[in-house]
Amino acid sequence: MRTILQCVAVCWLIVLAGCATQQAGKKDRKFQYVETDTGWWLIHDMNRPAPAVITPGTNSTSSSAGKAPSDAIVLFDGTDLSGWTSRDGSPAKWIIRDGYMESVKRSGPVKTEGEFGSCQLHVEFETPSPAKGSGQGRGNSGVFLMANYEIQILDSYDNITYPDGQCGALYGRAVPLVNACRKPGEWQSYDIIFHRPLFEGKKVIRKATFTVFHNGVLIHDHVVLQGGTGWRGKHAISDYEPHKDKLPVMLQDHGNPVRFRNIWIRELAD
Ligand code: MG
Repeated sequence: MRTILQCVAVCWLIVLAGCATQQAGKKDRKFQYVETDTGWWLIHDMNRPAPAVITPGTNSTSSSAGKAPSDAIVLFDGTDLSGWTSRDGSPAKWIIRDGYMESVKRSGPVKTEGEFGSCQLHVEFETPSPAKGSGQGRGNSGVFLMANYEIQILDSYDNITYPDGQCGALYGRAVPLVNACRKPGEWQSYDIIFHRPLFEGKKVIRKATFTVFHNGVLIHDHVVLQGGTGWRGKHAISDYEPHKDKLPVMLQDHGNPVRFRNIWIRELAD
């Protein structure tokens, strides 16, 4: 009888110990673990996957372009227009000179042969000096993500136009937070974090978002693009037209000789 009682007591102790361990485990999971894309990880776990090592780029100066980060795709390094075409796929007609490309009036836009979706994009540009024209006719060009969504380029240094079409605007949609323009004839930069729209059939199920730095200054803070950026027409509909998951980066010819250098891209997860 004594042996049976001893066995029962031991079993209870085992069960209770198990419960206590389980409780401790739950507590640990709650207080010492984080849930991530790669599973649950103990805080400061040395086995958690580390990010890839890359070499960062270098900054540009007024006289020379910087270097792209080692994991970027260089779209334009100032030497030639290989990798760029006209809109119809024929050779690009823009001028190459002294490490930059310059838009040519009535030659149309140029686009990359490569196609991209969500990305980090770096572009440098310079509007003509001395400044010529006014409003939308002064240093007008544009950076089109997925050949569709325009971040306006304009000489908005002491040049009044409609705010949703000034330099840095998501054309016709979003006004930049500040006007961070440099003077005409000075190199400027856009650093763009873009997440593409997602479509299901003809319906957009997630709209595109833009975070944009102009000359290092935040001008769009995770802005949701509500629709297309075409001139007037499609704005009234305020909707998206479905397109491919990846499309070219495109630069606009708007009749003004705008220059570009040091263009690179890093693809991002959607
Ligand atoms: Mg434009």
